[in-house]
Amino acid sequence: MVKYVFVTGGVLSSVGKGILTSSIGKMLQARGLEVTVVKIDPYVNVDAGTMNPYMHGEVYVTDDGGETDLDLGWYERFLDLNLKKENNLTTGMVYQAVIDKERRGDFLGRCVQIVPHITNEIKHRIRAVAKGSDADVVLTEVGGTVGDIEGQPFLEGIRQMRLEEGLENTLYVHVALVPILDVTKEMKTKPLQHSVNELRRIGIQPDIIVARSPEMIDADSRTKIALFGTIPENAVFCSYNVETVYKVPLILDDQGMGDFICKRFGFAECKKDLADWRKIVDVMSHPKYELKVALVGKYAGLADSYVSMCEALRHGGAANNARVWLDFIEAEKLEQNPKEMECLKEFDGIFIPYGFGPRGTEGKISAIEFARRNNVPFLGICYGFQLAVIEFARHVCALEGANSTEINPSTPHPIIDLMPEQRGVEIKGATMRLGAHKIIIEPKTMAYRLYGHREIYERHRHRFEVNLDFLDILKQKGLVFSGKSADARRMETLELPSNFFFFASQFHGEFKSRPGRPDPEYFGFIKACLGKKLGKSVCDFAD
Ligand code: GLN
Repeated sequence: MVKYVFVTGGVLSSVGKGILTSSIGKMLQARGLEVTVVKIDPYVNVDAGTMNPYMHGEVYVTDDGGETDLDLGWYERFLDLNLKKENNLTTGMVYQAVIDKERRGDFLGRCVQIVPHITNEIKHRIRAVAKGSDADVVLTEVGGTVGDIEGQPFLEGIRQMRLEEGLENTLYVHVALVPILDVTKEMKTKPLQHSVNELRRIGIQPDIIVARSPEMIDADSRTKIALFGTIPENAVFCSYNVETVYKVPLILDDQGMGDFICKRFGFAECKKDLADWRKIVDVMSHPKYELKVALVGKYAGLADSYVSMCEALRHGGAANNARVWLDFIEAEKLEQNPKEMECLKEFDGIFIPYGFGPRGTEGKISAIEFARRNNVPFLGICYGFQLAVIEFARHVCALEGANSTEINPSTPHPIIDLMPEQRGVEIKGATMRLGAHKIIIEPKTMAYRLYGHREIYERHRHRFEVNLDFLDILKQKGLVFSGKSADARRMETLELPSNFFFFASQFHGEFKSRPGRPDPEYFGFIKACLGKKLGKSVCDFAD
Protein backbone atom coordinates (compact mmCIF):
# COMPACT_ATOMS: atom_id res chain seq x y z
CA MET A 1 0.00 0.00 0.00
CA VAL A 2 1.40 3.40 -0.97
CA LYS A 3 1.80 5.91 1.84
CA TYR A 4 0.94 9.57 1.41
CA VAL A 5 2.59 12.51 3.18
CA PHE A 6 0.88 15.89 2.79
CA VAL A 7 2.81 19.06 3.55
CA THR A 8 0.98 22.32 4.24
CA GLY A 9 2.29 25.67 5.36
CA GLY A 10 1.05 28.41 7.61
CA VAL A 11 1.47 32.05 8.71
CA LEU A 12 3.15 33.14 5.47
CA SER A 13 4.47 31.73 2.24
CA SER A 14 8.20 31.06 1.72
CA VAL A 15 8.53 29.21 5.03
CA GLY A 16 10.51 26.57 3.17
CA LYS A 17 7.82 23.99 2.41
CA GLY A 18 9.73 22.94 -0.71
CA ILE A 19 12.93 22.34 1.23
CA LEU A 20 11.01 20.58 4.01
CA THR A 21 9.22 18.30 1.52
CA SER A 22 12.54 17.51 -0.20
CA SER A 23 14.13 16.87 3.19
CA ILE A 24 11.41 14.42 4.23
CA GLY A 25 11.99 12.64 0.93
CA LYS A 26 15.73 12.53 1.61
CA MET A 27 15.26 11.02 5.08
CA LEU A 28 13.01 8.32 3.62
CA GLN A 29 15.35 7.62 0.70
CA ALA A 30 18.22 7.29 3.17
CA ARG A 31 16.24 4.37 4.66
CA GLY A 32 15.96 2.61 1.33
CA LEU A 33 12.44 3.78 0.49
CA GLU A 34 11.37 4.97 -2.96
CA VAL A 35 9.71 8.36 -3.02
CA THR A 36 8.09 10.65 -5.50
CA VAL A 37 6.64 14.13 -5.11
CA VAL A 38 3.62 16.13 -6.27
CA LYS A 39 3.61 19.91 -6.04
CA ILE A 40 0.22 21.57 -5.91
CA ASP A 41 0.11 25.17 -7.09
CA PRO A 42 -3.31 26.62 -6.44
CA TYR A 43 -3.01 29.39 -9.05
CA VAL A 44 -5.33 29.38 -12.06
CA ASN A 45 -2.53 29.26 -14.66
CA VAL A 46 -2.37 25.86 -16.33
CA ASP A 47 1.38 25.78 -15.76
CA ALA A 48 4.17 28.09 -14.63
CA GLY A 49 5.38 28.72 -18.19
CA THR A 50 3.55 31.98 -18.71
CA MET A 51 4.49 33.50 -15.37
CA ASN A 52 7.01 36.28 -14.91
CA PRO A 53 10.04 34.94 -13.05
CA TYR A 54 10.36 38.27 -11.33
CA MET A 55 7.14 37.63 -9.46
CA HIS A 56 7.12 33.89 -9.11
CA GLY A 57 10.71 32.77 -9.42
CA GLU A 58 12.17 30.70 -12.24
CA VAL A 59 10.25 28.25 -14.38
CA TYR A 60 11.70 24.80 -13.84
CA VAL A 61 11.82 22.58 -16.93
CA THR A 62 11.45 18.82 -16.69
CA ASP A 63 12.82 16.22 -19.13
CA ASP A 64 9.41 15.83 -20.75
CA GLY A 65 9.19 19.59 -21.37
CA GLY A 66 6.96 20.51 -18.43
CA GLU A 67 7.22 24.16 -17.40
CA THR A 68 6.81 23.77 -13.69
CA ASP A 69 7.14 25.40 -10.31
CA LEU A 70 10.67 25.87 -9.02
CA ASP A 71 10.01 23.50 -6.11
CA LEU A 72 10.26 20.61 -8.56
CA GLY A 73 13.86 21.69 -8.94
CA TRP A 74 14.42 21.28 -5.22
CA TYR A 75 12.86 17.80 -5.29
CA GLU A 76 15.05 16.79 -8.21
CA ARG A 77 18.21 18.18 -6.62
CA PHE A 78 17.62 16.66 -3.19
CA LEU A 79 16.19 13.36 -4.35
CA ASP A 80 17.97 12.90 -7.70
CA LEU A 81 14.64 12.25 -9.42
CA ASN A 82 13.55 13.04 -12.96
CA LEU A 83 10.01 14.29 -12.52
CA LYS A 84 7.35 14.84 -15.15
CA LYS A 85 4.66 17.38 -15.99
CA GLU A 86 2.17 15.36 -13.90
CA ASN A 87 4.21 16.03 -10.78
CA ASN A 88 2.99 19.63 -10.80
CA LEU A 89 -0.71 20.13 -10.29
CA THR A 90 -2.42 23.51 -10.71
CA THR A 91 -5.97 24.80 -10.40
CA GLY A 92 -5.87 25.61 -14.12
CA MET A 93 -4.97 22.03 -15.00
CA VAL A 94 -7.64 20.53 -12.78
CA TYR A 95 -10.43 22.82 -13.97
CA GLN A 96 -9.42 22.46 -17.60
CA ALA A 97 -9.69 18.66 -17.29
CA VAL A 98 -13.05 18.80 -15.49
CA ILE A 99 -14.49 21.35 -17.91
CA ASP A 100 -13.30 19.25 -20.89
CA LYS A 101 -15.11 16.26 -19.39
CA GLU A 102 -18.23 18.33 -18.86
CA ARG A 103 -18.17 19.51 -22.49
CA ARG A 104 -17.72 15.93 -23.68
CA GLY A 105 -20.85 15.04 -21.75
CA ASP A 106 -19.18 12.80 -19.16
CA PHE A 107 -21.30 14.24 -16.33
CA LEU A 108 -24.49 14.44 -18.36
CA GLY A 109 -27.47 15.45 -16.30
CA ARG A 110 -25.50 16.34 -13.22
CA CYS A 111 -24.51 19.67 -11.77
CA VAL A 112 -20.68 19.82 -11.81
CA GLN A 113 -19.38 20.96 -8.43
CA ILE A 114 -16.17 21.65 -6.57
CA VAL A 115 -17.02 18.76 -4.27
CA PRO A 116 -17.03 16.06 -5.58
CA HIS A 117 -15.94 16.73 -9.18
CA ILE A 118 -12.96 19.02 -8.66
CA THR A 119 -11.81 17.21 -5.53
CA ASN A 120 -12.15 13.84 -7.32
CA GLU A 121 -9.96 15.11 -10.15
CA ILE A 122 -7.37 16.29 -7.61
CA LYS A 123 -7.30 12.94 -5.80
CA HIS A 124 -7.25 11.07 -9.09
CA ARG A 125 -4.18 13.01 -10.22
CA ILE A 126 -2.28 12.47 -6.98
CA ARG A 127 -3.04 8.74 -7.14
CA ALA A 128 -2.07 8.62 -10.81
CA VAL A 129 1.41 9.85 -9.87
CA ALA A 130 1.61 7.10 -7.24
CA LYS A 131 0.53 4.46 -9.79
CA GLY A 132 2.93 5.73 -12.43
CA SER A 133 5.92 5.29 -10.10
CA ASP A 134 7.43 2.60 -7.88
CA ALA A 135 7.17 4.88 -4.90
CA ASP A 136 6.61 3.56 -1.38
CA VAL A 137 5.79 7.10 -0.29
CA VAL A 138 4.21 9.93 -2.29
CA LEU A 139 4.89 13.37 -0.87
CA THR A 140 2.40 16.09 -1.77
CA GLU A 141 3.21 19.70 -1.06
CA VAL A 142 0.31 22.14 -1.10
CA GLY A 143 1.62 25.52 -2.26
CA GLY A 144 0.52 28.79 -0.69
CA THR A 145 -0.65 29.20 2.88
CA VAL A 146 -3.48 27.51 4.75
CA GLY A 147 -6.44 29.85 4.57
CA ASP A 148 -5.86 30.99 0.96
CA ILE A 149 -9.08 30.88 -1.04
CA GLU A 150 -7.38 29.14 -4.00
CA GLY A 151 -6.06 26.34 -1.84
CA GLN A 152 -9.40 25.22 -0.39
CA PRO A 153 -10.36 22.53 -2.96
CA PHE A 154 -6.89 20.99 -2.68
CA LEU A 155 -7.01 20.89 1.11
CA GLU A 156 -10.48 19.37 0.89
CA GLY A 157 -9.10 16.76 -1.53
CA ILE A 158 -6.24 15.76 0.75
CA ARG A 159 -8.60 15.75 3.75
CA GLN A 160 -10.75 13.17 1.97
CA MET A 161 -7.70 11.05 1.20
CA ARG A 162 -7.32 10.16 4.85
CA LEU A 163 -10.79 8.62 4.85
CA GLU A 164 -10.16 6.76 1.63
CA GLU A 165 -6.55 5.65 2.12
CA GLY A 166 -6.72 5.05 5.87
CA LEU A 167 -5.10 6.59 8.90
CA GLU A 168 -2.09 4.28 8.71
CA ASN A 169 -1.34 5.35 5.12
CA THR A 170 -1.62 9.12 5.42
CA LEU A 171 0.36 11.69 7.34
CA TYR A 172 -0.17 15.44 7.54
CA VAL A 173 2.84 17.66 8.16
CA HIS A 174 2.26 21.33 8.87
CA VAL A 175 5.08 23.85 8.83
CA ALA A 176 4.68 27.40 10.10
CA LEU A 177 6.79 30.34 11.07
CA VAL A 178 7.83 30.79 14.70
CA PRO A 179 9.37 34.26 14.78
CA ILE A 180 11.76 35.63 17.38
CA LEU A 181 10.95 39.17 18.39
CA ASP A 182 13.71 41.67 17.72
CA VAL A 183 13.38 43.56 20.98
CA THR A 184 12.68 40.92 23.61
CA LYS A 185 14.28 37.96 21.73
CA GLU A 186 11.17 35.98 22.61
CA MET A 187 10.04 33.03 20.47
CA LYS A 188 6.40 33.42 19.47
CA THR A 189 4.24 30.38 18.73
CA LYS A 190 0.89 32.18 18.51
CA PRO A 191 0.87 32.65 14.70
CA LEU A 192 1.63 28.94 14.33
CA GLN A 193 -1.23 28.08 16.69
CA HIS A 194 -3.59 30.13 14.55
CA SER A 195 -2.52 28.42 11.39
CA VAL A 196 -3.02 24.99 12.98
CA ASN A 197 -6.53 26.11 13.95
CA GLU A 198 -7.15 27.22 10.37
CA LEU A 199 -6.12 23.77 9.18
CA ARG A 200 -8.41 22.08 11.69
CA ARG A 201 -11.29 24.31 10.69
CA ILE A 202 -11.28 22.54 7.35
CA GLY A 203 -10.93 19.16 9.00
CA ILE A 204 -7.23 18.40 8.93
CA GLN A 205 -5.48 17.57 12.19
CA PRO A 206 -1.71 17.61 11.64
CA ASP A 207 0.32 14.58 12.73
CA ILE A 208 3.60 16.47 12.70
CA ILE A 209 4.29 20.17 13.19
CA VAL A 210 7.51 21.76 12.03
CA ALA A 211 8.40 25.13 13.49
CA ARG A 212 10.32 27.26 11.01
CA SER A 213 12.38 29.48 13.22
CA PRO A 214 15.68 31.33 12.98
CA GLU A 215 16.95 29.24 15.89
CA MET A 216 16.21 25.87 17.46
CA ILE A 217 12.98 26.16 19.43
CA ASP A 218 13.22 26.12 23.21
CA ALA A 219 11.50 23.57 25.47
CA ASP A 220 8.72 25.99 26.34
CA SER A 221 7.80 26.61 22.73
CA ARG A 222 7.85 22.89 21.97
CA THR A 223 5.47 22.20 24.86
CA LYS A 224 3.11 24.95 23.71
CA ILE A 225 3.13 23.81 20.09
CA ALA A 226 2.40 20.21 21.14
CA LEU A 227 -0.33 21.23 23.58
CA PHE A 228 -2.18 23.58 21.26
CA GLY A 229 -1.56 21.41 18.23
CA THR A 230 -2.84 18.29 20.05
CA ILE A 231 0.18 16.21 19.16
CA PRO A 232 2.86 14.56 21.31
CA GLU A 233 6.02 16.56 21.91
CA ASN A 234 8.09 14.11 19.89
CA ALA A 235 6.01 15.04 16.82
CA VAL A 236 7.23 18.64 16.99
CA PHE A 237 10.36 19.43 14.98
CA CYS A 238 12.26 22.58 14.18
CA SER A 239 13.75 23.73 10.92
CA TYR A 240 16.16 26.46 11.97
CA ASN A 241 18.52 28.57 9.83
CA VAL A 242 21.51 26.66 8.49
CA GLU A 243 24.44 27.65 6.27
CA THR A 244 23.18 25.56 3.34
CA VAL A 245 19.67 24.26 2.63
CA TYR A 246 21.14 20.84 1.88
CA LYS A 247 21.73 20.52 5.63
CA VAL A 248 18.02 20.60 6.51
CA PRO A 249 17.46 16.81 6.13
CA LEU A 250 20.40 16.25 8.50
CA ILE A 251 19.14 18.54 11.26
CA LEU A 252 15.61 17.11 11.03
CA ASP A 253 16.90 13.57 11.02
CA ASP A 254 19.03 14.31 14.08
CA GLN A 255 15.82 15.40 15.80
CA GLY A 256 14.28 12.01 14.99
CA MET A 257 11.89 13.01 12.21
CA GLY A 258 12.88 10.22 9.78
CA ASP A 259 12.43 7.53 12.44
CA PHE A 260 9.15 9.07 13.58
CA ILE A 261 7.65 8.94 10.07
CA CYS A 262 8.86 5.39 9.41
CA LYS A 263 7.46 4.19 12.71
CA ARG A 264 4.15 5.90 12.04
CA PHE A 265 3.90 4.19 8.64
CA GLY A 266 4.87 0.83 10.09
CA PHE A 267 8.05 0.47 8.06
CA ALA A 268 10.18 -2.04 9.92
CA GLU A 269 13.27 -0.46 11.51
CA CYS A 270 15.03 0.61 8.35
CA LYS A 271 18.76 1.22 8.54
CA LYS A 272 19.57 4.70 7.42
CA ASP A 273 22.54 5.89 5.46
CA LEU A 274 23.04 9.62 5.14
CA ALA A 275 26.84 9.42 5.00
CA ASP A 276 27.22 10.48 1.35
CA TRP A 277 24.82 13.38 1.79
CA ARG A 278 26.68 14.46 4.93
CA LYS A 279 29.94 14.47 3.00
CA ILE A 280 28.50 16.75 0.32
CA VAL A 281 27.10 19.10 2.95
CA ASP A 282 30.45 19.17 4.78
CA VAL A 283 32.33 20.31 1.67
CA MET A 284 29.66 22.91 0.99
CA SER A 285 29.93 24.22 4.53
CA HIS A 286 33.75 24.29 4.76
CA PRO A 287 35.36 24.67 1.33
CA LYS A 288 39.04 25.46 0.83
CA TYR A 289 38.70 28.19 -1.81
CA GLU A 290 36.50 31.22 -2.37
CA LEU A 291 35.43 32.58 -5.74
CA LYS A 292 33.46 35.61 -6.87
CA VAL A 293 31.21 35.28 -9.89
CA ALA A 294 29.16 38.07 -11.48
CA LEU A 295 25.70 37.07 -12.65
CA VAL A 296 24.58 39.79 -15.05
CA GLY A 297 20.85 39.49 -15.48
CA LYS A 298 17.51 41.13 -15.95
CA TYR A 299 15.72 39.64 -12.97
CA ALA A 300 18.65 40.19 -10.64
CA GLY A 301 16.45 41.65 -7.89
CA LEU A 302 14.90 38.29 -7.04
CA ALA A 303 17.33 35.46 -6.33
CA ASP A 304 14.59 32.87 -6.98
CA SER A 305 14.52 33.92 -10.65
CA TYR A 306 17.80 32.11 -11.14
CA VAL A 307 17.63 29.50 -8.40
CA SER A 308 18.63 26.44 -10.49
CA MET A 309 21.52 28.35 -12.03
CA CYS A 310 22.76 29.54 -8.65
CA GLU A 311 22.50 26.03 -7.27
CA ALA A 312 24.34 24.57 -10.26
CA LEU A 313 27.12 27.13 -9.71
CA ARG A 314 27.24 26.06 -6.04
CA HIS A 315 27.35 22.36 -7.00
CA GLY A 316 30.20 23.20 -9.36
CA GLY A 317 31.85 25.11 -6.52
CA ALA A 318 31.56 22.27 -4.01
CA ALA A 319 32.99 19.79 -6.53
CA ASN A 320 36.00 22.11 -6.84
CA ASN A 321 36.25 22.62 -3.08
CA ALA A 322 35.23 26.26 -3.51
CA ARG A 323 32.53 28.53 -2.16
CA VAL A 324 31.02 30.60 -4.96
CA TRP A 325 29.97 34.11 -3.95
CA LEU A 326 27.46 35.30 -6.50
CA ASP A 327 26.88 38.98 -7.14
CA PHE A 328 23.70 39.82 -8.98
CA ILE A 329 24.28 42.72 -11.35
CA GLU A 330 21.35 44.42 -13.05
CA ALA A 331 22.23 44.44 -16.76
CA GLU A 332 20.44 47.75 -17.23
CA LYS A 333 22.80 49.43 -14.79
CA LEU A 334 25.73 48.58 -17.05
CA GLU A 335 23.87 50.26 -19.92
CA GLN A 336 22.97 53.41 -18.04
CA ASN A 337 26.40 53.92 -16.60
CA PRO A 338 29.24 52.32 -18.59
CA LYS A 339 31.60 53.16 -15.71
CA GLU A 340 29.83 50.37 -13.83
CA MET A 341 31.71 47.99 -16.14
CA GLU A 342 34.73 48.64 -13.95
CA CYS A 343 33.10 46.58 -11.24
CA LEU A 344 33.42 43.48 -13.42
CA LYS A 345 37.17 43.56 -12.81
CA GLU A 346 36.69 42.19 -9.31
CA PHE A 347 35.24 38.89 -10.47
CA ASP A 348 36.81 35.52 -11.17
CA GLY A 349 34.13 34.71 -13.72
CA ILE A 350 31.20 36.22 -15.62
CA PHE A 351 27.94 34.36 -16.00
CA ILE A 352 25.07 35.39 -18.28
CA PRO A 353 21.80 33.60 -17.53
CA TYR A 354 18.60 32.95 -19.48
CA GLY A 355 16.29 35.84 -20.39
CA PHE A 356 13.50 37.13 -22.58
CA GLY A 357 12.82 40.40 -24.37
CA PRO A 358 15.06 43.41 -25.05
CA ARG A 359 15.44 44.94 -21.58
CA GLY A 360 19.01 44.75 -20.34
CA THR A 361 20.40 42.93 -23.38
CA GLU A 362 22.91 45.65 -24.33
CA GLY A 363 24.31 45.54 -20.79
CA LYS A 364 24.70 41.78 -21.01
CA ILE A 365 26.39 42.08 -24.41
CA SER A 366 28.86 44.60 -22.94
CA ALA A 367 29.60 42.20 -20.06
CA ILE A 368 30.27 39.40 -22.57
CA GLU A 369 32.55 41.69 -24.55
CA PHE A 370 34.39 42.50 -21.34
CA ALA A 371 34.83 38.78 -20.57
CA ARG A 372 36.02 37.99 -24.10
CA ARG A 373 38.48 40.86 -24.38
CA ASN A 374 39.90 40.45 -20.87
CA ASN A 375 40.00 36.66 -21.04
CA VAL A 376 37.81 36.31 -17.94
CA PRO A 377 36.16 32.84 -17.69
CA PHE A 378 32.70 33.11 -19.18
CA LEU A 379 29.63 30.90 -19.18
CA GLY A 380 26.43 31.83 -21.02
CA ILE A 381 23.18 29.91 -20.82
CA CYS A 382 20.39 30.11 -23.41
CA TYR A 383 19.94 33.87 -23.87
CA GLY A 384 23.53 34.11 -22.62
CA PHE A 385 24.52 31.83 -25.52
CA GLN A 386 22.56 33.86 -28.07
CA LEU A 387 23.96 37.17 -26.83
CA ALA A 388 27.50 35.77 -26.99
CA VAL A 389 26.94 35.00 -30.68
CA ILE A 390 25.62 38.55 -31.21
CA GLU A 391 28.62 40.06 -29.42
CA PHE A 392 31.01 38.04 -31.56
CA ALA A 393 29.15 38.94 -34.77
CA ARG A 394 29.24 42.65 -33.95
CA HIS A 395 32.77 43.01 -32.67
CA VAL A 396 34.76 40.24 -34.35
CA CYS A 397 32.87 39.72 -37.62
CA ALA A 398 32.15 43.45 -37.96
CA LEU A 399 28.46 42.86 -38.59
CA GLU A 400 27.32 46.17 -37.23
CA GLY A 401 23.91 46.16 -35.59
CA ALA A 402 23.80 42.34 -35.52
CA ASN A 403 21.01 41.27 -33.22
CA SER A 404 18.29 38.78 -32.41
CA THR A 405 14.93 39.42 -34.06
CA GLU A 406 13.50 39.01 -30.56
CA ILE A 407 15.30 42.24 -29.61
CA ASN A 408 15.23 44.15 -32.91
CA PRO A 409 12.93 42.68 -35.59
CA SER A 410 14.44 44.93 -38.27
CA THR A 411 18.13 44.30 -37.53
CA PRO A 412 20.35 44.31 -40.66
CA HIS A 413 22.00 41.07 -39.45
CA PRO A 414 19.50 38.72 -37.80
CA ILE A 415 22.14 36.48 -36.25
CA ILE A 416 19.54 34.96 -33.92
CA ASP A 417 16.14 34.29 -35.44
CA LEU A 418 13.08 32.09 -35.31
CA MET A 419 13.14 28.69 -37.00
CA PRO A 420 10.35 28.29 -39.59
CA GLU A 421 8.41 26.01 -37.22
CA GLN A 422 8.18 28.81 -34.62
CA ARG A 423 7.03 31.49 -37.06
CA GLY A 424 3.29 30.85 -37.07
CA VAL A 425 3.07 30.21 -33.33
CA GLU A 426 0.81 32.72 -31.62
CA ILE A 427 -0.24 30.91 -28.46
CA LYS A 428 2.25 31.55 -25.67
CA GLY A 429 1.63 28.58 -23.33
CA ALA A 430 3.88 25.51 -23.79
CA THR A 431 4.90 26.44 -27.36
CA MET A 432 8.64 26.99 -26.94
CA ARG A 433 11.19 24.32 -27.76
CA LEU A 434 11.00 22.50 -24.45
CA GLY A 435 12.54 19.63 -22.54
CA ALA A 436 15.35 17.18 -23.19
CA HIS A 437 16.71 16.89 -26.71
CA LYS A 438 19.69 15.02 -28.08
CA ILE A 439 22.91 16.97 -28.72
CA ILE A 440 25.81 15.69 -30.78
CA ILE A 441 29.20 16.82 -29.52
CA GLU A 442 32.19 17.29 -31.81
CA PRO A 443 35.27 15.34 -30.77
CA LYS A 444 38.42 17.27 -29.78
CA THR A 445 36.48 20.23 -28.42
CA MET A 446 36.09 21.73 -24.98
CA ALA A 447 32.50 20.48 -24.99
CA TYR A 448 33.75 16.94 -25.52
CA ARG A 449 36.35 17.30 -22.77
CA LEU A 450 33.67 18.61 -20.42
CA TYR A 451 30.97 16.06 -21.18
CA GLY A 452 33.08 13.06 -22.16
CA HIS A 453 30.41 11.80 -24.58
CA ARG A 454 29.54 12.29 -28.24
CA GLU A 455 25.84 12.25 -27.41
CA ILE A 456 24.16 14.04 -24.54
CA TYR A 457 20.61 14.96 -23.56
CA GLU A 458 19.96 18.36 -22.05
CA ARG A 459 16.85 20.41 -21.31
CA HIS A 460 15.70 23.39 -23.34
CA ARG A 461 13.33 26.34 -23.14
CA HIS A 462 13.64 28.78 -26.03
CA ARG A 463 12.12 29.93 -29.31
CA PHE A 464 15.04 31.55 -31.08
CA GLU A 465 18.12 29.92 -32.65
CA VAL A 466 21.42 30.77 -34.31
CA ASN A 467 20.61 31.75 -37.91
CA LEU A 468 22.35 29.20 -40.16
CA ASP A 469 22.95 31.84 -42.86
CA PHE A 470 25.70 33.32 -40.68
CA LEU A 471 27.48 30.10 -39.73
CA ASP A 472 30.30 30.46 -42.25
CA ILE A 473 31.43 33.90 -41.20
CA LEU A 474 31.19 33.09 -37.48
CA LYS A 475 33.26 29.94 -37.96
CA GLN A 476 35.77 31.69 -40.19
CA LYS A 477 36.43 34.24 -37.48
CA GLY A 478 37.09 31.55 -34.90
CA LEU A 479 33.83 30.77 -33.12
CA VAL A 480 33.41 27.02 -32.69
CA PHE A 481 29.96 25.44 -32.48
CA SER A 482 30.97 22.26 -30.74
CA GLY A 483 27.51 20.82 -30.07
CA LYS A 484 24.55 20.64 -32.43
CA SER A 485 21.08 19.14 -32.50
CA ALA A 486 20.83 15.69 -34.06
CA ASP A 487 19.68 17.19 -37.40
CA ALA A 488 22.50 19.80 -37.20
CA ARG A 489 20.01 22.64 -37.74
CA ARG A 490 20.41 24.02 -34.26
CA MET A 491 23.62 25.20 -32.63
CA GLU A 492 23.78 23.99 -29.04
CA THR A 493 27.20 24.90 -27.64
CA LEU A 494 29.81 27.45 -28.56
CA GLU A 495 33.40 27.96 -27.50
CA LEU A 496 36.30 30.24 -28.28
CA PRO A 497 39.52 28.23 -28.32
CA SER A 498 41.58 31.43 -28.22
CA ASN A 499 40.26 32.21 -24.73
CA PHE A 500 41.00 30.53 -21.38
CA PHE A 501 37.37 29.47 -20.88
CA PHE A 502 34.64 30.95 -23.03
CA PHE A 503 31.72 28.57 -23.28
CA ALA A 504 27.97 28.86 -23.75
CA SER A 505 25.04 26.58 -24.42
CA GLN A 506 21.59 26.95 -25.91
CA PHE A 507 20.41 24.31 -23.41
CA HIS A 508 20.10 24.64 -19.65
CA GLY A 509 22.62 22.39 -17.89
CA GLU A 510 21.45 23.62 -14.49
CA PHE A 511 18.25 21.58 -14.59
CA LYS A 512 20.22 18.35 -14.43
CA SER A 513 22.80 19.49 -11.91
CA ARG A 514 22.79 17.77 -8.53
CA PRO A 515 24.80 18.29 -5.36
CA GLY A 516 27.69 15.85 -5.64
CA ARG A 517 27.13 15.53 -9.41
CA PRO A 518 27.37 19.00 -10.93
CA ASP A 519 26.48 19.62 -14.53
CA PRO A 520 29.67 19.55 -16.66
CA GLU A 521 29.41 23.09 -18.09
CA TYR A 522 28.95 24.58 -14.61
CA PHE A 523 31.69 22.37 -13.19
CA GLY A 524 34.04 23.37 -16.01
CA PHE A 525 33.28 27.05 -15.60
CA ILE A 526 34.00 27.01 -11.87
CA LYS A 527 37.14 24.94 -12.39
CA ALA A 528 38.27 27.52 -14.93
CA CYS A 529 37.52 30.42 -12.55
CA LEU A 530 39.59 28.71 -9.89
CA GLY A 531 42.38 27.79 -12.31
CA LYS A 532 42.65 31.37 -13.53
CA LYS A 533 42.59 32.70 -10.00
CA LEU A 534 45.38 30.31 -8.98
CA GLY A 535 47.48 31.51 -11.92
CA LYS A 536 47.17 28.63 -14.38
CA SER A 537 48.05 29.61 -17.92
CA VAL A 538 46.03 26.89 -19.63
CA CYS A 539 42.55 25.77 -18.70
CA ASP A 540 42.09 22.09 -17.73
CA PHE A 541 39.61 21.67 -20.58
CA ALA A 542 41.74 23.28 -23.27
CA ASP A 543 43.61 21.31 -25.94
N1 GLN B 1 14.61 34.55 -25.29
C1 GLN B 1 15.39 33.52 -25.88
C2 GLN B 1 14.56 32.56 -26.72
O1 GLN B 1 13.37 32.52 -26.58
C3 GLN B 1 16.17 32.76 -24.83
C4 GLN B 1 15.31 32.01 -23.89
C5 GLN B 1 16.02 31.62 -22.63
O2 GLN B 1 17.02 32.22 -22.25
N2 GLN B 1 15.47 30.62 -21.93
O3 GLN B 1 15.08 31.85 -27.54
